Amino acid sequence: MAQLAKTAVSALSKKILAAPTAAVARRTMATEASPEDYGYYPDPLEHATGREKKMLLARLAGDDRYEPKVYYRAEASTKEKPNLVPSHYDFRIIGCMCEQDSGHVSFMTIRKGEPKRCECGHWFKSVDADPESI
Ligand SMILES: [Zn+2]
Repeated sequence: MAQLAKTAVSALSKKILAAPTAAVARRTMATEASPEDYGYYPDPLEHATGREKKMLLARLAGDDRYEPKVYYRAEASTKEKPNLVPSHYDFRIIGCMCEQDSGHVSFMTIRKGEPKRCECGHWFKSVDADPESI
């Protein structure tokens, strides 16, 4: 029994050792994938649906309504006269560069109807955006 098992293991190990060597010797390595050989990547516009497709089509048409925008805040804002931020939703996430040379942006959520004060002292308020811009 032990001799039979030893013979089987020996025969198996010969096959295992012989097979990879032959396979490695014939394997070539791809260094560059040509789109002519493998096909081009699909256009993301063809796969996009819903809101993402709407955004991509608007971008192609030159419409920047979905792009992030930079608004310059007023020099001095108060709770009674805050910086107005247009939004189509009940809230909007904004980022305030509190100091001109600041290396980071303070993000916060502002809601319609209630002005919110940034940690730098400026006030922001979300207002209704132009409904035609949807
Ligand atoms: Zn700030």
